Amino acid sequence: MDAAAVVWFRRDLRLGDHPALAASAARARRVVALFVLDDALLRPAGAPRRAFLAGCLRALDHDLGGRLLITRGDPTRVVPRVATEVGATSVHVSADTGPHGRERDTAVERALSGLGVKFVRTGSPYAVTPGRVVNAEGQPYRMFSAFYRAWLGHGWPAPAEVDASDVDWVEPSEVDISRASPEEPAAGGLPPAGERAALRRWHEFLADRIDDYGHDRDRPDRAGTSRLSAHLRWGCVHPRTLLHDLAERPGAGAAAFRAELAWREFFADVLWHRPDVARNNYDRRYDRYQYDSGADAEERFAAWTEGRTGYPLVDAGMRQLLAEGWMHNRVRMVVASFLVKDLHLPWRRGARHFLRHLVDADLASNQMNWQWVAGCGTDAAPYFRVFNPTTQAHRYDPAGDYVRRWVPELRAVPGKQAHTPWLLPGGPPAGYPLPIVDHAEERRVALSRFSALRDAS
Ligand code: FAD
Repeated sequence: MDAAAVVWFRRDLRLGDHPALAASAARARRVVALFVLDDALLRPAGAPRRAFLAGCLRALDHDLGGRLLITRGDPTRVVPRVATEVGATSVHVSADTGPHGRERDTAVERALSGLGVKFVRTGSPYAVTPGRVVNAEGQPYRMFSAFYRAWLGHGWPAPAEVDASDVDWVEPSEVDISRASPEEPAAGGLPPAGERAALRRWHEFLADRIDDYGHDRDRPDRAGTSRLSAHLRWGCVHPRTLLHDLAERPGAGAAAFRAELAWREFFADVLWHRPDVARNNYDRRYDRYQYDSGADAEERFAAWTEGRTGYPLVDAGMRQLLAEGWMHNRVRMVVASFLVKDLHLPWRRGARHFLRHLVDADLASNQMNWQWVAGCGTDAAPYFRVFNPTTQAHRYDPAGDYVRRWVPELRAVPGKQAHTPWLLPGGPPAGYPLPIVDHAEERRVALSRFSALRDAS
């Protein structure tokens, strides 16, 4: 047995079902629990995400009895330094499969190997590590339905048991390195952070809402979804734990939830095979799609980000994003479609805005969902699918409750009339704009640009 090991936490801020932690404890007598505040990760994050991360780290430190060593800096320097300080012969991580994480880990691995320290990847933030589900020819899947069948067939191990209280944790004060505390910006509306909060939320969801999830999941006016995305993003709970519980639940709700978790895995798999799609169109034919630019386009983009397009469902979603760092999935689809197909602006700009403000911002899920809506991604939504923000509002927020919650100017407008304030006698209430574009007209423009693209290819 080695004298010491480091377990470097990143997107796995929990103690339960943690194979990398189990591997470190099996290998060494003493273990350092490390988190590195890396500016490359923090810079693009808005206040809600930084606040949620701070909450997760506080919770993890609490569960470790105050033994989480948090330091700041470039991991390629900090991680080898900590390993040297404590005489560790191995550093254990859950594999990071995103483009930045892969490059960073390769650089850290190289720095450690110069010191004779092993860099050991065990598990990942996914039930099936990206890259493992391939077709008979060894190729990645390009369509979700085929991936889903193969992913179910591949399966995953039972949750890894490790009792963190049996581990002999190194006290942070034993390590000669400056300690840092995460910045805690004020942010409202966040779910409670950390592993215990995630499990509590999950068990409540299983008890009260999973059976209705199949239909309630599309309703932004109801609390029909788990709101576990930020916890999954930081690994406060591993999806394998959720899948394990779901295996014991029959019914359409549990099946629908399992499929949503699989979308998360699918998009991570796509990004693993094609790291370029973080920026590029998955379908490169769309490189020639004609977007708008210029002063008018900029004004429209600003109206979209601030929630003043005059389409209440779009504005409610964009304001919820700024206020809470979260938006309901149905509304994410509607606002994304609106940006690309009504305002004719590039999906990348919307995706960047989302990445900045979402608490659950995840490169794979975000970029690939944006590309799905824009029509240039996997399972491409047919190019002629243009979400109608008013029809969607009537269908999924039938009484207007969601819109009134987020657009105070419309609070006095009763029922579903809140979705069409331009039809009210006298026009929209004071302070609320008329629609900045005519949806029917912009839909025609988008369709003709898509047809031009199709005809040229
Ligand atoms: P639930 O309905 O309870 O779903 C359970 C879990 O399944 C989610 O927590 C999430 O991990 C996963 N999931 C559900 N739907 C999807 C999906 N369409 N794609 C991938 N995973 C899914 N999700 C993110 O986690 N991070 C993002 O940055 C992100 N950006 C998005 C951008 C756009 C334009 C769109 C349309 C969707 C995006 N999603 C993203 C997916 C989805 O909207 C959120 O995962 C979901 O709204 C989170 O709420 P929940 O936890 O209550 O979801």
